[in-house]
Amino acid sequence: MQRKRNLSTENEPPTKKVKTASKGHWSLGLKDTLGDKDNILKKTEHVSIIKDKFPKSKHHYLVVHPTITSIYALSKQHIDLVQHMVKVGEDFISEVNKDSTHVFKMGFHAVPSMQLLHLHVMSNDHDSVCLKHRKHWNSFTTEFFMPPKDILKQLEEEGNVKIDKQYYEELLKKGLACHLCKEKPKNMPTLKKHILLHFKK
Ligand code: AMP
Ligand code: ZN
Repeated sequence: MQRKRNLSTENEPPTKKVKTASKGHWSLGLKDTLGDKDNILKKTEHVSIIKDKFPKSKHHYLVVHPTITSIYALSKQHIDLVQHMVKVGEDFISEVNKDSTHVFKMGFHAVPSMQLLHLHVMSNDHDSVCLKHRKHWNSFTTEFFMPPKDILKQLEEEGNVKIDKQYYEELLKKGLACHLCKEKPKNMPTLKKHILLHFKK
């Protein structure tokens, strides 16, 4: 039988919403990564920090919870946990960015592809060979990348996280735009060349 080609990157699982996956499925990759203690950069009673396996910036880490499936499984009782994840991310940024070389950002993908609740902690250079596709770019530079404060607001006000998946998935198809100026590069290679200009010393 012919195998379905992975259109996301050669090595990376396709961007797809989280559903319950069977054992060994690519969307359980974070579980595998957490399972090897050599991958754990930092651990608290509740969460671990790992390196993103396909970093989309010079610095790209994930604060991962070992059992909660995704933002959709959160309720009011998890407000403290989300605040803890943010604190863990902030403390880690202070450690890896002592000289403030980079500007960092943190966010949850509105429609995550990987199982296990994870907060992206990353520098905003987006200078990485793993960042190849429009949907990668848009997933980190549009509202698809949800600041933790928006998740916390929803939990406080609604008691859960409800996402208009269609709206957010449409954002991934948007035309390319630089996240730091008004430039609208025509394709990914042009965009990647353009963003380097912002980080020239
Ligand atoms: P999301 O779209 O929020 O689910 O993002 C999942 C992130 O996990 C992406 O940035 C991937 O590069 C990253 N990733 C995929 N597989 C692994 C893995 N096995 N270990 C660590 N990070 C991974
Ligand atoms: Zn620009």
